[in-house]
Amino acid sequence: MEISKVDMTKQRSDLNLPGLQVSFYGIPEHKEVVLREIFIKARHLVPHWIERLTVSELDNDVDGAVAQVTAHISYRFADIKIFPRMWSNTRTPEEMYWVLVHEILHIPIHQIVKPIQQLVDNYFDDGPAKDFIKETIMSASEATVCDLTRSLQEFEQSILEANHDK
Ligand SMILES: [Zn+2]
Repeated sequence: MEISKVDMTKQRSDLNLPGLQVSFYGIPEHKEVVLREIFIKARHLVPHWIERLTVSELDNDVDGAVAQVTAHISYRFADIKIFPRMWSNTRTPEEMYWVLVHEILHIPIHQIVKPIQQLVDNYFDDGPAKDFIKETIMSASEATVCDLTRSLQEFEQSILEANHDK
């Protein structure tokens, strides 16, 4: 689901990483500093077919979302929106990193989910069966992303502990 397009009139600032350009739109400098660090650290998780990531902030919070990604597979780019609650005083930079890792991991999963969604939209009549399949796909993809994020957290933790023991 796409909440809004990137507002190209907003001030743009680029972070050029190997094979990936991250463009921040209208993000205040003190927040961009934090985000740059996160994208540098998480670069290896962005699929290599993604050439460009756009990052911008939304004015209002929606549901429980902290951030949201839309992958544009054909155009080789993905758009990340950050909701105001991302900057809550109680959220540490470490937690922000994992929020964005979660969004990044949605990108490869989206390659699988999108064709299934298109299939269901085009070949199923509106009704409970269609709603059920769509709901099942969404919750399965969300659960997969959560599981992958959790595995990566445990993996990074084990590396930290191994280094600490040396
Ligand atoms: Zn998610």
